[in-house]
Amino acid sequence: MSFKHQHKGNINNKFITGIVLNTAFIIIELVYGVLANSLALVADAIHNAADVLSLFLSWFSFLLARKKAPEKFTYGYKNLTIFATFINAILLFLSVGAMIWESFERLGNHETVNSGIVILVAFGGVIINGLSAFLFFDERRSDINIEGAFLHLLSDILVSVGVIVAGFFIWWRSWYWIDSVMGLLAAIVIMISSWKLFKESLNLILGAIPAAIDLEKLKIMILQSKGLVTFHDLHIWPISTTETALSVHLVVLPESFNEEVTTKLEESIKNNFPIHHVTMQLEKRDNNECPTDCALHQG
Ligand SMILES: [Zn+2]
Ligand SMILES: [Zn+2]
Repeated sequence: MSFKHQHKGNINNKFITGIVLNTAFIIIELVYGVLANSLALVADAIHNAADVLSLFLSWFSFLLARKKAPEKFTYGYKNLTIFATFINAILLFLSVGAMIWESFERLGNHETVNSGIVILVAFGGVIINGLSAFLFFDERRSDINIEGAFLHLLSDILVSVGVIVAGFFIWWRSWYWIDSVMGLLAAIVIMISSWKLFKESLNLILGAIPAAIDLEKLKIMILQSKGLVTFHDLHIWPISTTETALSVHLVVLPESFNEEVTTKLEESIKNNFPIHHVTMQLEKRDNNECPTDCALHQG
């Protein structure tokens, strides 16, 4: 399996289209949400605003990651993609908190809601979020940033469908309370989808191995190198949401103390793992100095 990935189409245009489409819809949703006195619509609009902001942040970090950085940033500004993802998650948690607060406050009151507007605008939400999800469908596997945005759009479609169903019951049975319940449900759905993003981006900030890399598999691959006695100082750290670096010291037998070992290992690491920057140091060790953890004398 190869992790080399070519972007189809212009992702820059996709970001701009997504931002413009969604901003226009948020304005419509806010105005009609207030006119219809619907918490479900206003909550969804606030939430969509957080989405556009996060889409904007993703776009911004995407542009910065490709910009030439001062020499002292030897990896460029790629690290910003990790921070953007983390800030996205925090913003989502904040909007979730506001929605939960508002839902409980309204459940106590008996507010009437205009069901016709709710159904129409929520239907618009299904279309806008569907179009946006379609835009990023090709890119979703290449980056946790973009995958996060994609999964998120899918959960948004579900929320809009829920709002349509609620609007139907308001029209049919005058169940006005269902509007607040939908606002609350929307908040919970968003909270769950944000949690994964929050955890993974925090891990990356703390320098943990990205979730896509199987450490045990990687160690086995290193140990299978010809003439290897042992290895130490294995470090794997994220450069961005898509790029990872690795460094390791390889202790080899005198006859294997040459470039062949490192060249071969680097190639198989890059072909089997999403690791892009590999640094290896060779160390010579005689057979009679073999350490207790020697790979040649195991199993
Ligand atoms: Zn959303
Ligand atoms: Zn060493």
